[in-house]
Amino acid sequence: MCPFLVEDRLAVFRREQPQAFQILKNVLSRKAVSPAYLFNGPQGLGKETAALWFFRNLLCESQNDQPLACDSCSSCQYPIRNHPDLHIVKRPNRKRTISIQQVREEIRVPVSRKAFVGQMKGVFIPEAESLTLPAQNALLKTLEDPQANTVVVLSVASVQPLLPTVRSRCIRVPFRSLSFKDFAHRFASSEEIASSDLYELFIITGGDVLLADQIIHSDHASELWQQAKDLAGALLDGTLSPIAISKWSDLLSKELDYLRQFLLLLLVELRNRLEQNVFSEATAYAEAVHLISRAQQQVEANANRRLALEVALIKLQQVLCSPYNKSNQLGN
Ligand SMILES: [Zn+2]
Repeated sequence: MCPFLVEDRLAVFRREQPQAFQILKNVLSRKAVSPAYLFNGPQGLGKETAALWFFRNLLCESQNDQPLACDSCSSCQYPIRNHPDLHIVKRPNRKRTISIQQVREEIRVPVSRKAFVGQMKGVFIPEAESLTLPAQNALLKTLEDPQANTVVVLSVASVQPLLPTVRSRCIRVPFRSLSFKDFAHRFASSEEIASSDLYELFIITGGDVLLADQIIHSDHASELWQQAKDLAGALLDGTLSPIAISKWSDLLSKELDYLRQFLLLLLVELRNRLEQNVFSEATAYAEAVHLISRAQQQVEANANRRLALEVALIKLQQVLCSPYNKSNQLGN
């Protein structure tokens, strides 16, 4: 079973992100709500869960002094994702951006109307870095309109694509990268990964739980691990012929996700070997990491991925079985 389903998502958010939870709880307790919030942090840290929880509490119509949703008013009867006064604006499938037209149709128009249920309205933009600059300028009009009775939550992995004028109108809610302890906790019930590999995966993915989960639960997980181990061994032994490298490149570059995951696992495997003292020369390892990360960048930049992989594998073998690296191994 996926480890994300074992625990209640809200409980995970409260435990892993105490600062973000406290900021939002203070807003609800003091009923001092700002027009806009910026949830900022890597993917997979519960920003969406936090936003939906925040809106459920904000939109609650109860007049009691409790900061949290009452569960019984007319607003609380709606599942929050289907609440008529919460507008969730997503990047359309197969598109890279949220357009100005979407902001007009999905935010400006509904926000200019009266709320259906109570007084407040909410706008949630889960991937706000996808807003084009004209779309951001259109959004600014909503953020600046005091009559709108609207709270906007922008969620981003990086604030860089946002205009300074948009950023400055938002209260920041930071989501911190996970500690290894919290990362390991997420995968505690997973049988697909050995605990000895978990730390490597944490380092290589930068603690990105979604990416790690994708690798562990990929349909090809065990096949990918085995291929990464086989290829790392062959590269270190220097036994790959040009034809073999060409065949590996064909095999691994057919699907983008497959290649992405394979490159990460190759890094994991090389780190494992580093700890087994296979590399007597640390620069060989550093150079290998550099070559793999360059191949990753080329793949992300839509380069010819088969060619990028083939060139990387040729150079990797040269680096990993260089006479210098070998002679030092023999000297040990
Ligand atoms: Zn309520």
